[in-house]
Amino acid sequence: MKPLTIGVLALQGDFIEHEAMLRNLGVDVRQVRLPKHLEGLDGLIIPGGESTTMGRLAVDFGLIEPLRAFGQEKPIWGTCAGAIFLARDVGREQPILGLMNMRVVRNAFGRQVDSFEIDLEVPALQAVDPDPRPFHAVFIRAPLFAEVFPPARVLATLPDGGIVAVQQGHLLATAFHPELTDDPRFHKYFLSLVEEVRARLQPLGDDVSGNGR
Ligand code: GLN
Repeated sequence: MKPLTIGVLALQGDFIEHEAMLRNLGVDVRQVRLPKHLEGLDGLIIPGGESTTMGRLAVDFGLIEPLRAFGQEKPIWGTCAGAIFLARDVGREQPILGLMNMRVVRNAFGRQVDSFEIDLEVPALQAVDPDPRPFHAVFIRAPLFAEVFPPARVLATLPDGGIVAVQQGHLLATAFHPELTDDPRFHKYFLSLVEEVRARLQPLGDDVSGNGR
C-alpha cells in the first residue's frame, strides 16, 4: 500500500519538528502553504506557534475554507496554537476553523508558569503502543480546553482536572507539544486515525494508485 502522505501547515510555528517526527515514522510529508497543497493528503497537522498570526496568514493565503472542507473529511491534529485554530470558541475575534466542539482559553497558565513540563496519563495511547509510561508533555504559553461538548471527548487532563487533549472523531487537539519530545506515541496515535479514515474512504480493492497491492 502507498505510504501515508501527511501535510504540515507551514505558515508559521514549529512545523519542522512535526515533519522530523513524521519522517521518522516512515510517512511522506508535505508542507502546506496554499490550498492546492492539500490535494491528495491523507491527514494534516497544524503546529504550535501564535494562533492569531497563523489565522491571519491562513486568511491571506485563502486557506480557511479549504482547511474546513479538508477537516470535514480527513484527520487534522492541532498542537497548541493549532488546537486553538481548530476550536469553535476561543473567546475573542480571530480567524479560526471552528471544527471542534470545544471552548478554548488562550494563554491559560499565566505569565510566571507560561511554560512547564509534566507527565500525563493518556490511556488512549495504549491502542498504538503498549509502553505503559506516562506521556511527558511540554506546555509553552499553552491554552486550556475549558469546555468540551459531544461528540468531542477528553483524552487527557492535568492533575487538577484541566483538559489538555481532546478528540472528536478524526480530529485531535493537544494543548502541549509532542513534537518537541522524542516520544512518537501521539504521532502514532494520529497516524492510526489517518489509517482508519483512509481505509474508509478508499475501500479494499479500490486501488487508486494503480500499482496493485
Ligand atoms: N500562546 C499561543 C497562542 O495563543 C500558543 C502557543 C503555542 O502554540 N506554543 O496562540
